[in-house]
Amino acid sequence: SREVQLAARPQGAPRPSDFHLTDVTLPPLESGQLLVRNLYLTVDPYMRGRMNDVKSYTPPFALNAPMTGGAVGQVVESRAEGIEAGTLVLHELGWRTAAVVDAAKVRTLPSLPGVPLSAYLGVLGMPGLTAYAGLLRVAEFKAGDAVFVSGAAGAVGSAVGQIARLKGASRVIGSAGSADKVQHLLNDLKFDAAFNYKDGPVAAQLRQAAPDGIDVYFDNVGGEHLEAAISSMNLHGRAAICGMISQYNATEPNAAPRNLAQLIGKQLTLRGFLVSPYYSMFNEFVAEVGGWIASGQLRFEETVVDGIDAMPDAFMGMLQGQNTGKMIVRLGEA
Ligand code: NDP
Repeated sequence: SREVQLAARPQGAPRPSDFHLTDVTLPPLESGQLLVRNLYLTVDPYMRGRMNDVKSYTPPFALNAPMTGGAVGQVVESRAEGIEAGTLVLHELGWRTAAVVDAAKVRTLPSLPGVPLSAYLGVLGMPGLTAYAGLLRVAEFKAGDAVFVSGAAGAVGSAVGQIARLKGASRVIGSAGSADKVQHLLNDLKFDAAFNYKDGPVAAQLRQAAPDGIDVYFDNVGGEHLEAAISSMNLHGRAAICGMISQYNATEPNAAPRNLAQLIGKQLTLRGFLVSPYYSMFNEFVAEVGGWIASGQLRFEETVVDGIDAMPDAFMGMLQGQNTGKMIVRLGEA
């Protein structure tokens, strides 16, 4: 198996020298284990946090050891009852081409027509559930709300905006980091308004895109975006604080938001959340979002990079916005 190890803890933006690739020999299977050939791997923003040596909700990655993360693979050999060779599985030993996995730690995947296996790492996986639970449960979205989502062309954000539209939002507004992404939001994902946050101050662009204000803000970015959203929020507005990617590479503390006093007068609710407690609604989520995908009402984009050797670049590229929709590393086909 070939795997990506963390060679050094990144200072600021990760660099190629923070990673190294190495070939390892896998141990023989013990009872209850599976040998899995990985087909699709994911790179996610939260992994940047795990590269730091700080206490967080997940422990840091160890140096000179393989990193972990979501992976879709195919069982090559099984010593577990009920799982045959050929079975498709979702598991957490990503960042490598093959793995010995405990059968108790995998989820077997159906092979659905029209749904690529990589979708289980994106729109029908952790990022999709984050969007679904964050919007509907955490922000308590209701029909008629005007919704603003940042990071709107990414894996989570593109699902948030479309779920809001399909659930009856009065207006869906998104921000993203390029003119092409803005066109994608407007033309492909049917957002009502979208802007490039690099074109000028977010507050002014948001005010223009949402002249009647917003009721819900889904925050993937933090900083200036969160400050702008607070300023545009209507009475009793709610924000789901999902991520703050503008700060993940920061070496200095962030200044914004400077307008938190508005929480009082407008009686706003800002709620941080993790997706993990919401796996209890996974089946409901897959049924509803899977239905929208099958009927063509919800679209999902992927940016696919080929080969394990390109995985560090895929990760660094995702942090810089090189992806539209989910960033996926493809190793092979089932
Ligand atoms: P994305 O697919 O959205 O990829 C990351 C995107 O972030 C890039 O494409 C880039 O797009 C954008 N970005 C990078 N730097 C900045 C910046 N300085 N300002 C604004 N945008 C920036 O990733 P995900 O959909 O997987 O994740 C989105 C967010 O959700 C992240 O903050 C992540 O940490 C969070 N998250 C939280 C979870 C939870 O349990 N709370 C679970 C999963 C994700 P652009 O070109 O637009 O700049």
